[in-house]
Amino acid sequence: MDVDVGDVAQAAYTGHLPEWSEVESLVEAAHRRFKSDADGTVADYIPVLAQADPELFAVCVAEVDGGVHTAGDIQVEFSIQSISKAFVCALVCQEYGHEVVRDRIGVNNTGLAFNSVIAIELNDGHPMNPMVNAGAIATTALMPGATPDEQWDNIVSGLSAFAGRPLTVDDTVYRSEADTNQRNRAIARLLESYGRIELDPLAVVDVYTRQCALRVTARDLAVMGATLADGGVNPVTGQRVVSAGVCRDTLAILAANGAYERSGEWLFEIGLPGKSGVAGGLVTVAPGKAGIGTFSPPLDAAGNSVRGQRATAYLSRVLGLNIFASHAHTLAAQRKDRA
Ligand code: GLU
Repeated sequence: MDVDVGDVAQAAYTGHLPEWSEVESLVEAAHRRFKSDADGTVADYIPVLAQADPELFAVCVAEVDGGVHTAGDIQVEFSIQSISKAFVCALVCQEYGHEVVRDRIGVNNTGLAFNSVIAIELNDGHPMNPMVNAGAIATTALMPGATPDEQWDNIVSGLSAFAGRPLTVDDTVYRSEADTNQRNRAIARLLESYGRIELDPLAVVDVYTRQCALRVTARDLAVMGATLADGGVNPVTGQRVVSAGVCRDTLAILAANGAYERSGEWLFEIGLPGKSGVAGGLVTVAPGKAGIGTFSPPLDAAGNSVRGQRATAYLSRVLGLNIFASHAHTLAAQRKDRA
């Protein structure tokens, strides 16, 4: 993972963001700094995604107090793709709880590509985690609802509550993927053969494909991330979407699995939970502080937006977001702390 952001010092994790005007200018700086990066390739395995404009680039930070900082093509909508997995996972965690998600879906990284069939075979049919396609399809199958339509309605209303506005499907993206998603259908059939899906596997894949085609902006992603950063309350609408415990569980899953088989490198460079999608979106969560949403279609070989990763790595450093970055206390300060 090349997230070389140049000579930028890592600020320590302090528990709060810098002042409003400083965040505002650093978000603009993140956009300016990586605007002309041309690395990466636009996804084309879903045919319509190949038409994406590689120049588009948006950066957004949504603070947990509801303030939003934006730069670039912030009004452009794109399909949420795999980022939906994070929020459907949160809704399913809310319904079934910590143990069911850990045991039935799993929380461990596969070390293999997001759409790996081998990972299922190697793990005795276990879907492994909700961020790879097998686990995501198994997670969508658990969504509350007596029919696929009811499950779909619950996904749309849940993800809309995270975003704070009604989300709609991009029909062209949905059709393009539905016509070419033989691999996801095979994954669902394989899970069925292992007894891991109780519903009609093809109906589940259809709902999953629609969830991936929901349209969002970088701002939506930032607000959705800020809701996970804010103990489950959307900081813009004030609506509680999930519990604080669900946020904690979802963020742990994202830290381990959010950047596909490069999740370790992602954590090493950025030090925050995040999730990318093949249309070029990226959401990152700084617990208790903010959500970061970026959009830039060119991807690295694992399917992560190149400029999105670089802008996020930059913001993680300058805003002091990396949860592993501490300063040494001075001896005097330590004594004062203990007094
Ligand atoms: N809808 C895509 C798929 O299932 C999502 C992949 C992604 O964004 O990683 O292949």
